[in-house]
Amino acid sequence: MAGEPKQQPANSNGDPAALSASQQGRGLVFIISAPSGSGKSTLVNELRHSVGDLDFSISYTTRPPRGSEQNGREYHYISRDEFERMIAADEFLEYADVFGNYYGTARGFLDRARQRGHDLLLDIDVQGAAQLQDKLPDSISIFVLPPSRRELELRLRRRSSAEHVKDHGIIQRRLDTASREICNYNRYDYILVNDRLEDSIEALKSIVLSERLRRSGHEPSGEVRRLAERCRLENVRESIQSILATFGNEESSAVRN
Ligand code: ADP
Ligand code: 5GP
Repeated sequence: MAGEPKQQPANSNGDPAALSASQQGRGLVFIISAPSGSGKSTLVNELRHSVGDLDFSISYTTRPPRGSEQNGREYHYISRDEFERMIAADEFLEYADVFGNYYGTARGFLDRARQRGHDLLLDIDVQGAAQLQDKLPDSISIFVLPPSRRELELRLRRRSSAEHVKDHGIIQRRLDTASREICNYNRYDYILVNDRLEDSIEALKSIVLSERLRRSGHEPSGEVRRLAERCRLENVRESIQSILATFGNEESSAVRN
């Protein structure tokens, strides 16, 4: 990292990653959304391994586990009846119907992260993100875009064959949904084009670190700042138009799913 020492936070090892939410006195909420297959889970997994004090909300869903997924690790898998009971009991911070299944974030995750002085990362769809942006206006939102519709289709196909999924209708439905979800990109603070994985991981880390620095009263600098700023919505508007065009999209701010 090419940081300038006087702008770095005071901590024991000089690494801005070590500046935790508790040191800042408050927890940040990061919302990350992407069309299915863009690589969001891959990026989030990398982030969780490389950045400390970041809790990950494990959503509840009525969809069955996929591939090697395990109950309580990727999701809490519950029945529709149980999900509807939780809705009635107001146990969700947000929830949405995605691909015909319910997905929701339990309020408890935010409460627990705050008690621990940790930041919280939420991997949710555009409908859930819109609900949370209203409830938590200070949240930081990141939208992951694939480099093109064709590349998204390739990634979806590769993942399906790796998981031995035979239903090719699913891929078509996910591509159609992607075109609608992508219309919502301009409701997010940062847009991360997931082209080369290593670059995307660095960019995602930089977004988290620079927001941590900013909220603690330090201005980010060097490579962290450069990588994060490059993803800011206002800095990518023009460059992503060619990607949006591959999905046949024009600019829009409506929430559609
Ligand atoms: P999502 O969580 O957005 O649905 P995944 O993380 O499951 O997507 O990624 C979809 C597929 O694309 C996986 O097979 C993953 O290994 C692959 N993938 C993720 N990021 C990249 C990338 N930058 N380049 C190529 N393949 C990628
Ligand atoms: P998948 O079934 O591929 O894991 O996820 C499908 C979609 O549901 C993804 O866009 C994912 O971000 C979204 N999702 C996962 N958990 C939640 C949640 O708790 N709330 C909302 N609104 N969406 C979620």
